[in-house]
Amino acid sequence: EVDYKKSTGYASHMAKQKTEAASEFAKTKSIRQQREFLPIFSVRDELLNVIRENNVVIAVGETGSGKTTQLVQYLLEEGYCTGGHIVGCTQPRRVAAMSVAKRVSEEVSAAVQETGRALTEVDQLGGTVGYAIRFEDCTSPHTKIKYMTDGVLLRETLSDPDINHYSAIVMDEAHERSLNSDILFGVLRKVVARRSDMKLIVTSATLSADTFSNYFGGVPVFRIPGRTFPVETYFAKSVQEDYVMAAVKQALQIHFNHEPGDILIFMTGQEDIEGTCTVLAEKMEKLGGDSPPLLVLPMYSQLPADLQAKIFETAPKGIRKCIVSTNVAETSLTVDGIKYVIDSGFCKLKVFNPKIGMDALVVTPISKANANQRSGRAGRTGKGYAFRLYTDRQFREELMENAVPEIQRTNLSNVVLLLKSLGVKNLLDFNFMSPPPEENIMNSLYQLWILGALDNNGDLTPMGRNMSDFPLDPPLSKMLLYAHEHGRCSSEVLIIVSMLSVPSVFFRPKDREEESDAAREKFFVPESDHLTLLNVYLRAKQYKFDAKWCNQHFIHSKGIRKAREVHSQLVDLMKQRRFDPQSCDGSWDVIRKAICSAYFYNSSKIKGIGEYINMLSGIPAALHPSSALFGLGYTPDYVCYHELISTSKEYMSCVTAVDGYWLAEVGSMLFSVKESYETTLLRRQKDRAEQAKMEQELQKKQKLEEEERQK
Ligand code: ADP
Ligand code: MG
Repeated sequence: EVDYKKSTGYASHMAKQKTEAASEFAKTKSIRQQREFLPIFSVRDELLNVIRENNVVIAVGETGSGKTTQLVQYLLEEGYCTGGHIVGCTQPRRVAAMSVAKRVSEEVSAAVQETGRALTEVDQLGGTVGYAIRFEDCTSPHTKIKYMTDGVLLRETLSDPDINHYSAIVMDEAHERSLNSDILFGVLRKVVARRSDMKLIVTSATLSADTFSNYFGGVPVFRIPGRTFPVETYFAKSVQEDYVMAAVKQALQIHFNHEPGDILIFMTGQEDIEGTCTVLAEKMEKLGGDSPPLLVLPMYSQLPADLQAKIFETAPKGIRKCIVSTNVAETSLTVDGIKYVIDSGFCKLKVFNPKIGMDALVVTPISKANANQRSGRAGRTGKGYAFRLYTDRQFREELMENAVPEIQRTNLSNVVLLLKSLGVKNLLDFNFMSPPPEENIMNSLYQLWILGALDNNGDLTPMGRNMSDFPLDPPLSKMLLYAHEHGRCSSEVLIIVSMLSVPSVFFRPKDREEESDAAREKFFVPESDHLTLLNVYLRAKQYKFDAKWCNQHFIHSKGIRKAREVHSQLVDLMKQRRFDPQSCDGSWDVIRKAICSAYFYNSSKIKGIGEYINMLSGIPAALHPSSALFGLGYTPDYVCYHELISTSKEYMSCVTAVDGYWLAEVGSMLFSVKESYETTLLRRQKDRAEQAKMEQELQKKQKLEEEERQK
């Protein structure tokens, strides 16, 4: 018996399942048959010919035509992986890189089985087919097909500018226009100019392919035939206030009135997705036992991989599947059997917020191009229906034609540091496909300058060069390097940086808020949330990251183990550079100073009882209720924070008390120490005395030199 309730975490209202359903799980077609049924298969040889004759090819095809899973396999079959060469495929999304690699690994081993060879270790994921995402390298010396995020390949060009071990790169999902992809375009354009033996295939799901073709000097565009069915699109009759409730209502309406076929709901992010799933399950529960069962499956990047994989499984006969997903299901992942699409009209986008001086994820209306992609998901295997939760008028008048490329809306510090390390002197000369606003570049240069990564000429400093060696946001690398150079506390800061690189490890289940808050409070270090994170990690380590111990203390054991992995990789990176980690053995004040050295531009000063204002903008900022300082009622004069969360007001999240003098020392370009009249007088006297002493010394020295000369 399959217990979906348990496996999905949602009471998905299952009628009693008999084992007859299990046979439905068995695939009706062999993997080879599935592969040969894909549209791209009919043009396989033609496509390989075009690739043979051109160094750069743009391949355009509908989602689901087989670009992501098949292209690299064709290249492997065609002999592109001989002589130690491998084929790479970049993805803008981590989830896609992992999930697709898993599928392709299965396809490749199925092909091996057909030849009669017994499967070995090499045929598992991480063998012939592997993937790499930040802090997770699942490849081996046997790897021939490597899926990776675009950020990973960009980093590889730092250590090997010609990326010589690749015979071909497939840059997938080019239409996404992710920040790293846009930079990769510029970098790889130069690589193919230098290496006539390398192939670059850029794939896109939309017809905007001409932009890409022109960028590479008018290279061929290869169109993969699509196989799509008509989709009937409906708009909301009135403006919807609450898209979660509207989506639930629509899903139930479909479920009870329309013929069989799976539902795909496009939501914004984890919170809305979980909300939708919960409400949907509750409503189904209320409707009672005789109503037809509905299998509700969430899909978002932080969801554990085994639960993500569920969306690809065929539901037992007679049961309708309802997937609630982020826009990862828009083009990156294709789920077969979707007949109904419900489109909330929103997505979460990373946008630079000048008010708080950094990127924030914000719920934003999608573009018309997104909307059409979403609707198209309903027509993959037959006639489909798309229900848009916005009005026709909203669609026409409020949605933009295309989404703004990430490079034009986010902080570029990371990318600027990387380009500087690649030797790009003047960023305004870099060949951007869509140039970022000059102001964005200037902001990023400024941020890198105050962190000491760039000098007054905008050139990389030794600190900047070291910072670019770490796959971290610039302030985090700075914290690590400062701790190493000045604080002798890099052991501790390595842990803090690792904990900040994974999603929050604290969990706070509904109905058990008080209990979990009390558990969290036991870890509090009064003056710092960063040190609290350090404390949690060290305690968990004492218990060998035991899952039971973690559960008892309301800590995600998977999350903290991920932090341990990140930590071990960062330690390796430090050691490779002969920066042996050093511990401050419990004198934690130096750690707070290292934090201050990296986040001094995120600092606030107390003003009134428990109220803070940002030292640069003067905007009020409150301690976040989850902060240890808030919990213990500790209100130091100065604090630095990791990030600002904007809701009804601005909250500082992950806060550390700092000394005002530190701010002046590590952030001297922004702050100076204002003194009282007396101290100023005293200091002047001291200064004068010192100056007089120096002059005396100088005179003495000059006299001595004079005497020397006369001798
Ligand atoms: P494209 O990149 O052109 O959108 P894909 O190569 O991603 O197309 O998809 C081709 C086929 O592979 C689709 O029918 C899809 O359902 C299937 N597929 C992709 N990933 C998985 C998976 N993890 N499990 C099962 N099928 C998958
Ligand atoms: Mg694809």
